[in-house]
Amino acid sequence: MRITAALAGNQNSGKTTLFNRITGSRQNVGNFPGVTVEKKTGTVKKLRHIEVVDLPGIYSLSPYSPEEIVTRDFLIKESPDIIINIVDATSLERNLYLTLQLIELDMPMVVALNMIDQVKYNNISIDIPALSKALGVEIIPVSASRNIGIAELLDRVEYIAENRIKPESNPYYPATVGQAVSAVCELPALKNNKAVPAGFAAVKLLEGDEPMEKELNLSEDDMRELSLIARCLEGSLDMDREAALAEMRYLRIEEICRAAVKKPDFETASRKRSAAIDSLLTHRYFGIPIFLGIMFLIFWLTFGVFGSTLSDLFESGIEYITGLCDTALSSANVNENLHSLIIDGVFAGVGSVLSFLPTILILFLFLSVLEGTGYMARVAFVTDSMLRKIGLSGRSVVSMLLGFGCSVPAVMSTRTLPADHGKKMTILMIPFMSCSAKLPIYSVFTMAFFEKQQALVMMALYLLGIAVSVLYAIILNKFYFSGKPTPFILELPEYRLPTASSVIQRMWENARDFITRAFTVIFLASIGIWLLQRFDIRLNVVTDSTHSLLAAIGRFISPVFAPLGFGDWRASTALITGLVAKESVVSTLAVLYDAAGAEFAASSLAHMFTPLTAFSFLVFTLLYMPCVAAMAAIKREFVKTSTALYAMLYQTLIAWIVSFAVYRIGLLFI
Ligand code: GDP
Ligand code: MG
Repeated sequence: MRITAALAGNQNSGKTTLFNRITGSRQNVGNFPGVTVEKKTGTVKKLRHIEVVDLPGIYSLSPYSPEEIVTRDFLIKESPDIIINIVDATSLERNLYLTLQLIELDMPMVVALNMIDQVKYNNISIDIPALSKALGVEIIPVSASRNIGIAELLDRVEYIAENRIKPESNPYYPATVGQAVSAVCELPALKNNKAVPAGFAAVKLLEGDEPMEKELNLSEDDMRELSLIARCLEGSLDMDREAALAEMRYLRIEEICRAAVKKPDFETASRKRSAAIDSLLTHRYFGIPIFLGIMFLIFWLTFGVFGSTLSDLFESGIEYITGLCDTALSSANVNENLHSLIIDGVFAGVGSVLSFLPTILILFLFLSVLEGTGYMARVAFVTDSMLRKIGLSGRSVVSMLLGFGCSVPAVMSTRTLPADHGKKMTILMIPFMSCSAKLPIYSVFTMAFFEKQQALVMMALYLLGIAVSVLYAIILNKFYFSGKPTPFILELPEYRLPTASSVIQRMWENARDFITRAFTVIFLASIGIWLLQRFDIRLNVVTDSTHSLLAAIGRFISPVFAPLGFGDWRASTALITGLVAKESVVSTLAVLYDAAGAEFAASSLAHMFTPLTAFSFLVFTLLYMPCVAAMAAIKREFVKTSTALYAMLYQTLIAWIVSFAVYRIGLLFI
């Protein structure tokens, strides 16, 4: 028999950890609510007839956010053979709220009492037989991360699913509520429905759950009858219907826990430790400065200390291999064009991107550690109120900060955001955060034109990027996206030491993504650019790149940039090649001048730019559409190609407008 098992539980209760453990797959695990935003399916190792579905975390079966709807729909509509309810044993009171509702679904079910290792550590004692009896379901103590009790859990899952053992019903609602529930069950719409368990549907309807009303297609008569019953209940309990049922569950949970759980103290030891750390890290005044300090430290370590050294090493490795291939191709007398395609096109293009791999690995090492410990949730917490004013939530800030390194991981990191407009806005803002690939451009130009004010100009560019993105967000929020960001529960998970395996796994996943991209998108784009600069319009090989197709295209679009002060075709060509990777803006300019290095910067750029037009050019490079790798990442998150294309167009338009303004205003002063 094939068995479908659904993993349901609160956020951060360890669902994904358990999923990975039993299926051997590698989904992201983070000590941060909302890491799993869509359902994932896998088969159990060694028990291949059991299929497991990892669902987004939920607190109740009355959904508010998109991911909660995913979970509820799956449970009700796909009716899995068994529900594995994962319960965090260290916060039973909160977790059981969902458990009680899952039991109402009247489907085969087992409770996996997770984090049992923490229970021992915190000196809590849970009387599992008593708990099991009170709830009417079987309970298996497990620890997903320490691999305790997993085999037994799977054993019971198989047994319960095969024998279709449903929870024992032991109604806990007082008679008034029980009568109301039975009365609702008598409604024709409920009696005729087969899709939803009647008892569950009745309770939801009593609570005033709108999705359920729609789902069951209640007639007007039914609705009238229902509101009559509800009003009657509200009258006799003297309470709002939704609150009344919630209260009943809480009373029940309290009763159960009083009988089955013993805690040494009101607060557990690990919660006390977390609270102590939090009093500093989420301090009203120090919270944000500490966060900025930590971010600065990470950037400095990533890009300054380790990144540059490792990237240099890696680059010399790539250069060495390129050299070997170059010699091999020469000695084998390979066709000159093919030779150039391989070396100047593919190796140069793919190599320049691959050389960022160590930096990316290190950045993700730090970030997955931060996320694993639970600090990211604190960052979201301290920045939330500020970001809410522009329609974002605290969850976005981490992604945006990543954008200063590279837009690609930054955009990828938005996967941890709830799928609403806040996520879309974050993705749209990320490309304005000046990425590290633009640094070479800034340094060449500032050396040539602003030698004395170099640092000032650099700072101005970074700040301009942030300012433009915030303005963009304000405009988007006002005219394009309306509504508030999804409220998110500011519940801070306890600080935990991340496991080495989850950190390494996270790094590896990102590395794999990055490498794949280098050999697909970047590979093709490099070949494209090479072809364009190698041939002229009649497809003859050119000796001088001024006659190439690329130059022709550059000349064709250069009038667009004339109003910004840099109508030279070489500048526009450089901007085009910058789409492959931003660094190539500099290398293209260098190639087109047929000169190299610092000499090129100082002497040749002066022929083409004045300090003002140079600054205008820098502003444009800062703001215009991102490189293909980032575009591909954005496209992947937006799903629809057209949306992503519009986003790129708008961004370039914004760059044009800002650059134009900078140039024109500058002209007034010079
Ligand atoms: P999800 O949101 O329910 O998918 O939860 P995750 O699987 O992402 O796990 C949340 C956090 O709990 C992670 O930091 C895990 O490492 C941690 N965790 C999961 N299972 C256990 C466990 O059995 N013991 C302990 N101590 N931590 C666990
Ligand atoms: Mg998860």
